[in-house]
Amino acid sequence: MNYDLVIVGAGPGGTSTAISALKAGGKVMILDRKTNVGVPVQCGEAIGKTGPSLAEIDVPKRAVMNPIRGFKIFSPNLTPVVYAKNEAEGFIVDRRVFDKELLVRACELGADVMVGANVVDLVYEDGKVSGVVARCFGEKVEVRGEVIVGADGVNSTVARISGLRKFIKPRDLDTSAQFEMVGVNIEEVDLMEFYLGSKVAPRGYVWVFPKSENRANVGIGIGAGMGEKTAYGYLMDFIKNNPRGKELCKDAKPIEFRVGAIPLGGPNPKNVADGLMLVGDAAGQVHPITGGGVGYAIVCGSIAGKVAMECIEKGDVSEKALSKYESLWREKYGHEFSQMLALRNLLEETDDEVLDDLAKILTGENVVDLTAGKKIGVVLRAAAKGNVKLLRLLNELRKLQLIQ
Ligand SMILES: Cc1cc2nc3c(=O)[nH]c(=O)nc-3n(C[C@H](O)[C@H](O)[C@H](O)COP(=O)(O)OP(=O)(O)OC[C@H]3O[C@@H](n4cnc5c(N)ncnc54)[C@H](O)[C@@H]3O)c2cc1C
Repeated sequence: MNYDLVIVGAGPGGTSTAISALKAGGKVMILDRKTNVGVPVQCGEAIGKTGPSLAEIDVPKRAVMNPIRGFKIFSPNLTPVVYAKNEAEGFIVDRRVFDKELLVRACELGADVMVGANVVDLVYEDGKVSGVVARCFGEKVEVRGEVIVGADGVNSTVARISGLRKFIKPRDLDTSAQFEMVGVNIEEVDLMEFYLGSKVAPRGYVWVFPKSENRANVGIGIGAGMGEKTAYGYLMDFIKNNPRGKELCKDAKPIEFRVGAIPLGGPNPKNVADGLMLVGDAAGQVHPITGGGVGYAIVCGSIAGKVAMECIEKGDVSEKALSKYESLWREKYGHEFSQMLALRNLLEETDDEVLDDLAKILTGENVVDLTAGKKIGVVLRAAAKGNVKLLRLLNELRKLQLIQ
């Protein structure tokens, strides 16, 4: 089997790479080890606001469950910071449908697909990656391609075998747990809720993402190995003991439980080699604070597919030629990722009282701008008058060029 692109992984990174390569006339094979793509869901299912815009993502309509027009962030002492627009600025989607619809789009454009195909090795020819070996329903299958794309998620086999990312340090991972619940006492169905604090979610947050009037994803991400409990332990603590968590979940019934890992340490130093590209979680293209990765995977995948086809047409799929992909996606998000990584490190060392003080002076717009790496106004410094710890934090934010 010979293709232009062989893509490992049918998540949003893989299918968006496929779609853009197919639109450029490519012959594409997608392999996924799942027999039912999109399942199990390992995602809070929120799309929009941080990262790429909705126009760039082109969310499949059938996947949209609930439009979202903002959020409430609760500091450790439950001081809220609210961002609420009149119009929807994002969606809670059904990832089962979302991922499947993108795969359908790719198939309709001509992609071949193998489900239940677990890629276990790479084929090298003259030092260049030129194929993959998969185990598919008990059979060994080899598929050859001009360019191989590793879009196989956080535990990417392709990244590990190629040496582009041999492992992820625990410090750069968040572990997460999530219930989908029915009977949640949601206050405002079109606002997401986030809860911060070292006792609530060490280096992370609890999220409540409404899917309908009384149905929501209630989940948590914490720094791997951080705190005294597991992610599940902290989530249960929120549901049972946090004043707001108790109220939200007192009548709630779990209909699904999910766990997963999020790579929050920023992009890999390099995501291309001769005949090889990495996309999405495999490349570390995830917002280091929010953990959002769907939008980035889609936009970066689209760039990867286009560049791969240009290189194939020119007959040069060397690392040097493919590195155009690296330059293009880093031009778009590289600065944002490195700033957010620095902000994450700073917030990790910030104690709960300072977060409470910060919540008193930040507006929802400020938070949106900060998490997009945009500078926010001087008003903060004035507001922090006399509060030494907060002033110190604001000074650090200024050094990161996040406030004026
Ligand atoms: C609990 C949790 C909550 C999250 N919430 C959000 C959120 O609300 N919003 C958001 O934007 N992001 C969220 N994320 C992050 C988001 O899910 C990922 O960034 C996104 O799915 C990355 O897309 P991807 O295509 O790179 O990888 P994935 O979606 O992980 O897809 C990878 C695919 O590769 C396949 N695969 C893996 N290994 C192999 C192999 N060896 N052979 C063949 N196939 C293989 C897998 O089966 C899978 O289908 C969350 C993550 C977690 C864990």
